[in-house]
Amino acid sequence: VDLPIHDAVLGGAAAFGDAPALIDGTDGTTLTYEQVDRFHRRVAAALAEAGVRKGDVLALHSPNTVAFPLAFYAATRAGASVTTVHPLATAEEFAKQLKDSAARWIVTVSPLLDTARRAAELAGGVQEILVCDSAPGHRSLVDMLASTAPEPSVAIDPAEDVAALPYSSGTTGTPKGVMLTHRQIATNLAQLEPLMPAAPGDRVLAVLPFFHIYGLTALMNAPLRLGATVVVLPRFDLEQFLAAIQNHRITSLYVAPPIVLALAKHPLVADYDLSSLKYIVSAAAPLDARLAAACSRRLGLPPVGQAYGMTELSPGTHVVPLDAMTDAPPGTVGKLIAGTEMRIVSLTEPGKDLPADQSGEILIRGPQIMKGYLGRPDATAAMIDEEGWLHTGDVGHVDTDGWLFVVDRVKELIKYKGFQVAPAELEALLLTHPGIADAAVVGEYNDDGNEVPHAFVVRQPAAPDLAEGEIMMYVAERVAPYKRVRKITFTDAVPRAASGKILRRELRGRA
Ligand code: ATP
Ligand code: MG
Repeated sequence: VDLPIHDAVLGGAAAFGDAPALIDGTDGTTLTYEQVDRFHRRVAAALAEAGVRKGDVLALHSPNTVAFPLAFYAATRAGASVTTVHPLATAEEFAKQLKDSAARWIVTVSPLLDTARRAAELAGGVQEILVCDSAPGHRSLVDMLASTAPEPSVAIDPAEDVAALPYSSGTTGTPKGVMLTHRQIATNLAQLEPLMPAAPGDRVLAVLPFFHIYGLTALMNAPLRLGATVVVLPRFDLEQFLAAIQNHRITSLYVAPPIVLALAKHPLVADYDLSSLKYIVSAAAPLDARLAAACSRRLGLPPVGQAYGMTELSPGTHVVPLDAMTDAPPGTVGKLIAGTEMRIVSLTEPGKDLPADQSGEILIRGPQIMKGYLGRPDATAAMIDEEGWLHTGDVGHVDTDGWLFVVDRVKELIKYKGFQVAPAELEALLLTHPGIADAAVVGEYNDDGNEVPHAFVVRQPAAPDLAEGEIMMYVAERVAPYKRVRKITFTDAVPRAASGKILRRELRGRA
C-alpha cells in the first residue's frame, strides 16, 4: 500500500509478461504487460527530460484508449499529479479545470487538439501540449517510446503526494478538484481487491470513462494490478458495446445504471452472444432491484452486483463481494470494506446515530478519504468534520446483516408536506412500466407552494401513445398518496453525466 500508484499497479507487470494487458476494442491494437511496463517507463523518462517535475500538474485529456494508462502511469512516475479531463469538455470548461488545478502540461489526442489549444490559451500557465498519437508541432508519446533518457528517480511520498486530481461529477454544483494521494488510491485498491478480485484470463470491458474515478479504479488500476485484460472502448455505443462483449469474450462488466437498463430492455441485446459474461457490477447512481433482476434474468447471470463510493473516497467503500452476488439481498450496494468505519445519522437531529433499517445520512471514516478539495479549505471542512467523518450527502440504511441500501442524495429528496420522497424510488418504479424506456424525477413547486414530483418520461418506441393519465395511475396504484407523481413531461432523452448520473439540475431548468 505504501507504494506510488504506478508501482502499486504495475509492480507485477513484468511477471505477467506476454499476457495482453490492453486491447483497443475498435481496431484490436494490443499491448502486453511487458510493453505497458517498458513503455510507461520510457515515456516517464521522456516527460522528465521535457521538464516535467515533481508536483507539476498534468492534464490528461483523452477518451479511453490503450495509451491512456501509459500516459497516466508515466506522468505519476515522473512525479506529476494527473488531473483527468472529460474528453467532451468545451474549451471553456477545460480552461477552468486547467486554471483551477494550475496545470503546466496537457496530454491530449489529435482529434481533441483544437479544444486543448484553445483551453490552454484561455487558462494561461500551460507550458506544453503533448499528444498520445501524433500531430505536427507537438511532442508525441509514440516518439517518446524511443527516448534514451535515463529513468527519472523521483522521491515520491505516498502519504503526502497527490497522484490523481479528478474532478467530482458536478452533479450537485461546480465540479471540485479532489486531491487523492498515492496512498489513498492504493489503499482503496487493496481494500476492494479481496471482495472483487480480477485474475489473469478475465476480460474487462472499459466502456465507462477512465477520466472518472470509477473507471480509473475498476477498469484501469484494479484489473491491471492483477493481470487481467482490459478491452477499451472510446464511448458507449450500444451496438459497438455488444459486439465487443461478443468478439472479445468479455467476462466482467463494470457499468452504470443506464447500461443495465439497456441490457435489460433493449431489443438489440438479443442479437448478440453474451455468454462469456460471468458477472456485472453497477455503481455511480441508484440501481433498482427489479431492473437489476430483469437484466440478470435476461442474460442468465447472477444478480447484478453493486458498489458504492464517491470521488472523495478514492472511491469505493461498499461492494457486493463476488462470491455473495447470488445471496445478497436485492437492491443492496454492498458491505463496508475493511479498515473503514460507517455511521448512519439522523437527518433531523444532527449527530444522532440511527439503528438498523432506519434511513439517515451516510458518514464514512477511513484511510482512503481524500486529502481535501484543491484550493477549497472551506468546502473540505464542510465535508469532513473534526473527528474525521466524511459526510457523504447520501441517504441510506443498513440491515442487521450489514448490507447498505442507498436511498438517494439528501439534496434530491422532495419534501412534500412533511414527508420525504426519493426521486430514485419513483424513477425505478416508472422503469417497471413496459411502455417506459427511461425516466427522471425532480422536485418542483406547484401553485400551492408544495414541492411535488415531476416526472420526465421517455416512451418505448413500441408505446408512442402511452398517456400521462395512464402513467400517473400506474404510480398512484403502487405508492403512498404523498409520493404520487403530479406532473409528467414527455422527452426524447434523459440528460446524464458521463458516469451515468441523471443531471437533475438540467431538467429543473426545463421544468
Ligand atoms: P458532485 O459531488 O460534483 O455534485 P457527484 O457527487 O455526482 O458530483 P461522484 O463523486 O462521481 O460525483 O459521485 C458520487 C455519488 O454517486 C455518491 O455521493 C452517490 O450519490 C452516487 N452513487 C455512487 N454509487 C452509488 C450507488 N451504488 N447507488 C446510488 N448512488 C450511488
Ligand atoms: Mg458528490
